[in-house]
Amino acid sequence: MGEREESAQASACAPYAVTAGNRGAREHPEARPRWRDEFQRDRDRIIHCSAFRRLEYKTQVFVNHEGDMFRTRLTHSLEVAQIGRSIARALGLNEDLTEAIALAHDLGHTPFGHAGQTALNACMRDFGGFEHNLQSLRVVELLESRYPDFQGLNLLFDTREGILKHCSVINARYLGALGRRFLEGGQASLEAQIANVADEIAYNHHDMDDGLRAGLLDLERLRSHVLYATMERETLQRWPGIDAKRLRHTVIRGMLNHFVSDLIAATAAAIRELGIETLADVRAQRRPLLRFTPEVLASHLELKRILRHELYEHPKVMQMATRSQAIVRDLFEIYMNDGAELPEGPAFPSPEAQARAVSDYIAGMTDRFAMAEHARYRGHSAPE
Ligand code: MG
Repeated sequence: MGEREESAQASACAPYAVTAGNRGAREHPEARPRWRDEFQRDRDRIIHCSAFRRLEYKTQVFVNHEGDMFRTRLTHSLEVAQIGRSIARALGLNEDLTEAIALAHDLGHTPFGHAGQTALNACMRDFGGFEHNLQSLRVVELLESRYPDFQGLNLLFDTREGILKHCSVINARYLGALGRRFLEGGQASLEAQIANVADEIAYNHHDMDDGLRAGLLDLERLRSHVLYATMERETLQRWPGIDAKRLRHTVIRGMLNHFVSDLIAATAAAIRELGIETLADVRAQRRPLLRFTPEVLASHLELKRILRHELYEHPKVMQMATRSQAIVRDLFEIYMNDGAELPEGPAFPSPEAQARAVSDYIAGMTDRFAMAEHARYRGHSAPE
């Protein structure tokens, strides 16, 4: 069954897709799955791992306990997977691989969103730093302990390659084949490129929605984005009596569709024009094949810029970020001073080893666990 399914899938995909015929290997050889293909197996392993479940209680932009209406890192990951699958299907690429990468891309994210990551990276400055992409890889390669024959999830090369979206040159040197493209140039598969851009498209759009609903994002400022203003005008022309909530959803949905459609068309054109025929052709490119047209890229970047100024740097979000960073810094100090507080403590072979264990422990925490731990040690409760 496995074999038949994999060859059926290969014939349904474009020749430059990742398929059973050209995929990389697992670190530890395993028997072929009976009812699924290897890419589905990766996706399923990701869904069952404990880091995935913890995404439910990790902040995306709004701290998890601020309200039940906002995106968490789990719902963000599901939206990335949905957008990724749509793009992959339209381009004849491997949907299951795209989905697996999308679901795993934030597994290594700290609690408290971007603020938590910045704080942990600062704490780790003398110990090799903290990069959340690299941490996601660390989760699937090392930190998950579920299988008797290996550490981690033993995912395919192609899934791991996709998870490692960015990587510093220093770290790339230790990563063997996975790090090569950061040292020598070249690209990841189109499936990996899709998960990467689907991430940006997903957060641009859901953060508009969450930001407006939270009353932090000013609608007037958002209307300075030409596409937002145009979509709003067109929606009001077509449905003059529409209520504010339906209007917001219709505009955001229309924008999402606009960006995804442009991405599919521009990428398909690039594939044609550059004569891409194989996966090796995809990997040999100097720049990613996945692309917007220049005008839509400008619009995408402008949307990111507006969200950064109006939402991510909003005083209320910044205030929360400052408190969250203090929690991460305090926890780091507590666990560095007392190794016995760590799950694998108390003794470590070196300060670097202890710092890495602390970093893994903190990165794996949910927002509320980090706050509870902080309150336990410092005797006062964390951010309101
Ligand atoms: Mg993300």
